[in-house]
Amino acid sequence: MATVTKVRVASDRVKLFTLEVPTGGNFKAGQHYDVRLTAPDGYQAQRSYSLASSPGDTNLIEIAIELIDDGEVSSYFHDSVEPGEMIEVRGPIGGHFTWEPSHTKSSIFVAGGSGIAPIISMLRHRFTVKNNAPALLLFSVRTEDDILYREELERMSDNDPSLHVVTTITRGTSKDWIGNTRRIDQGMIDSALVNTGVKPESAYVCGGSGFVESIADILLDTGLDFNQIHIERFGP
Ligand SMILES: Cc1cc2nc3c(=O)[nH]c(=O)nc-3n(C[C@H](O)[C@H](O)[C@H](O)COP(=O)(O)OP(=O)(O)OC[C@H]3O[C@@H](n4cnc5c(N)ncnc54)[C@H](O)[C@@H]3O)c2cc1C
Repeated sequence: MATVTKVRVASDRVKLFTLEVPTGGNFKAGQHYDVRLTAPDGYQAQRSYSLASSPGDTNLIEIAIELIDDGEVSSYFHDSVEPGEMIEVRGPIGGHFTWEPSHTKSSIFVAGGSGIAPIISMLRHRFTVKNNAPALLLFSVRTEDDILYREELERMSDNDPSLHVVTTITRGTSKDWIGNTRRIDQGMIDSALVNTGVKPESAYVCGGSGFVESIADILLDTGLDFNQIHIERFGP
């Protein structure tokens, strides 16, 4: 069981939940937990949530949950879960979509919306252990409000010349926005690679199914091999 210790609003649609788990920090960046809710009548619903926190000594983990319209579990978390609540969890789970400090290959990370969760865990871990293999993050969100971990990403890239972050907004921007304003396409990936000089030998892609499939196709066209591309799908 995990105890919820903190709930924070990260955007209109995403809340961050800090959970205390006895062996919390003992996981690989990219892994997830399964969360199981049980109603008074015995009905159960189980969903997976990536660990957004970095592995470490602490017994606190963070998950980032996007509210899905009519979503059973995400709306329960958004509407009802408060600090002090006990939640049934199982984990850590997952072996393919993981990043470890021994990873010295240059990497491209591509996140769609809440798909940043396991990737911020990898980038946090990478930053903490001072791994400086060249890394490029392409982060696609709907609106500026949806740029999760915005300040932290800026801070990490400002303090680490080997990390490059490119964000793109697909719906509506403010007049102050000077970044990309379209979905990630081949042209955006090609120019980000040229501008940053990153020559990826591995890729980590996370988001909804349509998103990860289109990005994987582009990365294959870019010359990456199928087994160099790690994929995590969040939705249908
Ligand atoms: C390995 C793994 C890790 C995951 N990590 C995270 C995470 O870190 N953060 C996070 O928010 N989610 C994550 N997910 C997705 C999560 O497990 C749930 O699927 C999601 O929260 C929706 O559950 P729900 O009960 O609210 O919706 P449901 O009641 O299952 O679905 C309601 C409706 O929404 C649709 N739907 C379900 N999921 C999505 C989606 N992602 N986008 C759009 N429509 C959807 C369903 O098809 C259905 O029509 C992860 C999934 C996997 C497999």
